[in-house]
Amino acid sequence: SVSPIYNFSAGPAVLPEAVLRTAQQEMLDYNGTGFSVMEMSHRSDMFMGILHHAEQDLRSLLNIPANYQVLFLQGGATTQFNMAAMNLAHGFERADAVVTGNWSRLAYEQMPLLTDARIHLAAHGGEQFDYKDLPPVDNWDIDRNAAFVHFASNETVNGLQYADMPKLSDGMPPLVCDMSSEILSREINISDFGLIYAGAQKNIGPAGVTVVIIREDLLERCPKNIPAVFNYRTHIDKDGMYNTPATYPIYMSGLVFRWLQTQGGVKKIEALNELKAQTLYAAIDGSGGFYRNDIAPHARSKMNVVFQTASADLDKKFIQEAELRGLRLLKGYKSVGGMRASIYNAMPYAGVEALAEFMADFQRRYG
Ligand code: PMP
Repeated sequence: SVSPIYNFSAGPAVLPEAVLRTAQQEMLDYNGTGFSVMEMSHRSDMFMGILHHAEQDLRSLLNIPANYQVLFLQGGATTQFNMAAMNLAHGFERADAVVTGNWSRLAYEQMPLLTDARIHLAAHGGEQFDYKDLPPVDNWDIDRNAAFVHFASNETVNGLQYADMPKLSDGMPPLVCDMSSEILSREINISDFGLIYAGAQKNIGPAGVTVVIIREDLLERCPKNIPAVFNYRTHIDKDGMYNTPATYPIYMSGLVFRWLQTQGGVKKIEALNELKAQTLYAAIDGSGGFYRNDIAPHARSKMNVVFQTASADLDKKFIQEAELRGLRLLKGYKSVGGMRASIYNAMPYAGVEALAEFMADFQRRYG
């Protein structure tokens, strides 16, 4: 028998097989139209229907209140580093940023480029930015008058995640959160945020679309003197059709939202995600030091499990042999090395079990 393939890519990442099968079925003839979703006008009723359905399903999955707008934009999460600053910090002296890993660091570095506000480093992870722990929200140095506070709730590269989602008290600036690598993986309270953004290619769908959820009152901050395509207000005023959206990725994202509903929604998948993460961390911690993860236990990511053996050579062997067993794309990020198992919503428990079994087997042979 052929053993199944499990794809541990950090992103673009595994999609639910059922979603891929539906897309395959509908590829040449979407809903009796005689053509594919890729080939229809974004302004057609058909596509508008797909978009509005996707938005409605996302709203119900995440319990998004009516005073929040939802956008499906192009440009990736990276574009949001600047769009958030350009739109929300205009006229402010300062905006605050928390740096806890590769992605929030990049955001912190990019944000000043297109805003007059000073971007203040409000907190960072560990001595020398070694990203092994997360600064608790109570220790963030934030200013009441700051335009916003930016952070990333899950650091995809470094494997850190806030177990308790940060929340600020009333009267504090709005939280702007990069949720790219964890959105829809656990229940969150949207009202605790001013703006949430997430690139699709982990828990939502294929690369090419970025979800932005923004509290309506913040739209009043969007300045008129920035390019229309970078202005949140433009996209909202034009019902997401200011320019051509990433139609096919939006369609695929809609299929993923429906799939997630059939799985019982976010609460159900959250319990499964807990179990998956527990299984892998138990395999690491139970290895007597053969496998290591140096992240403070309370800050360990449930989406991206990073680990390593005693040497880069042995890591390489692990990755090669795992590959032959159908456990794919386990190589860590280039700047970090080691292994990284990304176990987003679409990774079944069986994939994690197969990896844990392989880890034990590999240790028996090389430990
Ligand atoms: N933020 C986070 C947390 C990410 O994981 C990534 C991509 N891996 C990005 C931002 C950048 O996203 P994109 O490549 O879609 O711009």
